[in-house]
Amino acid sequence: MVHLRYKRRPKRPKTLNFQSSESKNFFSEKEFIIRSNGQTKVFKISPRVQWIVFVTMIVLGIWGAHSYQMYSVSDRIISYQERKLGETRSAYVDLMSDFVTVHKNISALVQNFGQASSSQKKDDLDEYLKKAEVIEEKIRQITAKEDWINEQDLSEKSALKDALIHRDVAIEEKKQLEEKVAHLQEMVASLQAFEMDILKKIETLSNKDIDKIKSTISTVNGELKKRGKYYNPLANSKKNSKGGLYVPDNIALGQNQELMDQVNKTFGLIDDNSYYQEALRRIPLGKPVWSYWLSSPFGKRTDPFNAKSARHKGVDLASNKGNKIKTMADGKVTRAGTASGYGKMVEIDHGNGFKTKYAHMNAIYVQKGEEVVLGQAIGEVGNTGRSTGPHLHYEVLYDGVHMDPMVFIKAR
Ligand SMILES: [Zn+2]
Repeated sequence: MVHLRYKRRPKRPKTLNFQSSESKNFFSEKEFIIRSNGQTKVFKISPRVQWIVFVTMIVLGIWGAHSYQMYSVSDRIISYQERKLGETRSAYVDLMSDFVTVHKNISALVQNFGQASSSQKKDDLDEYLKKAEVIEEKIRQITAKEDWINEQDLSEKSALKDALIHRDVAIEEKKQLEEKVAHLQEMVASLQAFEMDILKKIETLSNKDIDKIKSTISTVNGELKKRGKYYNPLANSKKNSKGGLYVPDNIALGQNQELMDQVNKTFGLIDDNSYYQEALRRIPLGKPVWSYWLSSPFGKRTDPFNAKSARHKGVDLASNKGNKIKTMADGKVTRAGTASGYGKMVEIDHGNGFKTKYAHMNAIYVQKGEEVVLGQAIGEVGNTGRSTGPHLHYEVLYDGVHMDPMVFIKAR
């Protein structure tokens, strides 16, 4: 049985003087009396010892507070990194959703590439280009995210953690972050591979388109050469002034030279393709009436009215009265009205040396000076003027010289 009793020291005559002078001091000498098994022991604690204990307590207190502060600083760093990680994650999600959108867009683009009219195609491409721009910006941002996980940051953090015996946590976090970034980099690489793939596909399709157009133009030139003419689609081209399609700024692709080269190559081809498509829209190719039979060919023939030999400047396409006549190229109406022999007629200038004439019409839908586009109905098949039955008299001219319209009708 142990009794511990504290007594404010009174009855020690030896130290009476000392006590009287120090009685108001907090650190005055103190006694502990311990009674055990009938025996009594007295422990004295001097003011010096009390001071040492007090100072030690204070130091421990400050150290504790400091540790707590250090801990909360480290906590803030961790939550900062977690926030950064969160940002990276959401950037990653954005990237993925863009990826999917672009993938869809590009699939549609590739599918429609061979079929869409050139203006539709251009819109699609413009949209793709905008998406590509956004994606490249994302890639740039993601790549830049690496900055926040630089070595200095990590070593500072580790040092702090060492002091707080959290090193294992720091190492684990660093490992995880590095894995995330590595994964993100892989994603970016696969995204770039995907872009590369699409660019190559578009390159192939553009080449096919261009080859097809060149072959059509060469068929047309076969007819033109018979009459001493030649059409060069690049003759008055704006091609060299490069005002066409927007080519994305490739800063983001700076580290990937191969992809950058492919981007430039493909966009060059898209530009060429777009130019050739535009040229093609200004050559009258295909049939101006949906249903017809050739009642009189181009060239020498016997005049149906006076039985004399004459040169037929166009073709006669017999068709039902009222059937729509459509222009087979963009252009501007240069004549619309009645002309001797021709009856109701229309003349269109396609702006590149080609002109077309339509005669014996039942009705005219356009006016002189009007701009018309490929496929637009300009009137109806009729029997006006010097005509023996409902038909379209159709002429195609290049550089003022009449060509065989059947070559143009069959070339599309
Ligand atoms: Zn005729």
